[in-house]
Amino acid sequence: MALREGTLRLNLLLNSRNVYRFNSSVGVRSLSDNVSSKPVTSSAPEIAGDHLIYTQEHFALKKSLRKIIDQDINPYVEQWEAEGIFPAHKIFKILGSAGFLGVNKPVEYGGLGLDYSYSLAVAEELGNIRCGGIPMAIGVQTDMTTPALARFGSAELKQEFLLPSIMGDKVACLGVSEVGAGSDVSSIMTKAVRKGDEYVINGGKMWTTNGTQADWICLLANTSDGPPHRNKSLFCVPMNLPGVQIARKIEKLGMWSSDTAEVFFDDVRVPCKNIIGKEGMGFTYQMLQFQEERLWAVANILTMMENIILETIQYTRQRKIFKRPVLHHQAVHFRLAELQTEVELLRALLHSATALYIKGNDVTKLASMAKLKGGRLAREIGDSCLQFWGGMGFTSDVLVSRFYRDSRLMSIGGGADEVMLGIICKYMDTLPKN
Ligand SMILES: Cc1cc2nc3c(=O)[nH]c(=O)nc-3n(C[C@H](O)[C@H](O)[C@H](O)COP(=O)(O)OP(=O)(O)OC[C@H]3O[C@@H](n4cnc5c(N)ncnc54)[C@H](O)[C@@H]3O)c2cc1C
Repeated sequence: MALREGTLRLNLLLNSRNVYRFNSSVGVRSLSDNVSSKPVTSSAPEIAGDHLIYTQEHFALKKSLRKIIDQDINPYVEQWEAEGIFPAHKIFKILGSAGFLGVNKPVEYGGLGLDYSYSLAVAEELGNIRCGGIPMAIGVQTDMTTPALARFGSAELKQEFLLPSIMGDKVACLGVSEVGAGSDVSSIMTKAVRKGDEYVINGGKMWTTNGTQADWICLLANTSDGPPHRNKSLFCVPMNLPGVQIARKIEKLGMWSSDTAEVFFDDVRVPCKNIIGKEGMGFTYQMLQFQEERLWAVANILTMMENIILETIQYTRQRKIFKRPVLHHQAVHFRLAELQTEVELLRALLHSATALYIKGNDVTKLASMAKLKGGRLAREIGDSCLQFWGGMGFTSDVLVSRFYRDSRLMSIGGGADEVMLGIICKYMDTLPKN
């Protein structure tokens, strides 16, 4: 039912919105042609009709996004990786104009009003970008900084921050982690103290993706000295306010094209209306926001995993050792078959979690399992595939070595593997109570 409503809305929007004029050959505007005239050409697999969660519209959406990736992103990835940053405002404007930054966000704020399965399709397609940094930066904008705002923010706040983020006019970042608090979110120290009509914010955030370019930050801060979990609130904080200081851009093992910042807040004054939802509910909102973040991350890395396996097959098929292709050695093709099997198992888990999520279920346990498995499988695939490339795998010229570096983050960022295990244990009722 939700899917059908979404499809109707998509058709409606495609016929009515005129914001996609930037390029008639790409974006959701071109998707309208695909949606209204029934058959979707080559990129829609034959199985689309039987797919667990995707319809022809999902595949059309993916195809449309792929054009932008091939035209506006992939040709520049090498340059942006070398520069250690990509032009977020430029790329987000292209994606926002085409509707890809608000697929499941409300129509009145520029979104397409579709269900989360469409966001998942977008996340999967973004996995075709030839690095991890840019998809991650886009995911931060669409699925890590804005879900709570869209769900709980006031109309005024959504007008000021959500709409321009969906349209690609503003770049967002997420301020949860701190120098002393990553896995243990409840121990953050950043504080927002109410003074009249304002909150005065002091503290610092670490590992802030998009941080050097962002226009606003979705910031988690303590709003009272009460017990942990109860005293936190989420705020929309413009990054150009007096007292916001980008302390440094962090150099990293991978994700080079994504800028990561340490940010300080020194007596930063924000109006009380900038609080998302109710004061004291920030921790709960952030935990809900993490669900979408984790599903998004798995969908995104799934495509990358498949691409790495495919490229490894191609390379090992043509590379000869001991008078036959590397691929023809049983240890190689059996290992690739094992890895592809694991990918399919992860996909099944991800898609069933998503199907339950769009029906309104709490999928924290399944999303955590998928995130845990995604991180571990990415490490296995990166390591095994790189090995089959020999010395070439150790060069910077091939995708597999970038994947090896970038995908390592999956087991750390957005909740480390051990944090996922803790959540799963809680749901299994096996975690000892202190
Ligand atoms: C490139 C990058 C981008 C990021 N982007 C953002 C962002 O945009 N916004 C944001 O808020 N944060 C961001 N993060 C932060 C990320 O979410 C944290 O790094 C992550 O939550 C881990 O926190 P930590 O680094 O403080 O590690 P710590 O909390 O110090 O944990 C260290 C290690 O302890 C282990 N551990 C944790 N819990 C347990 C446990 N219960 N039992 C046993 N072992 C355990 C894990 O192996 C973990 O890796 C980013 C991080 C990176 C590296």
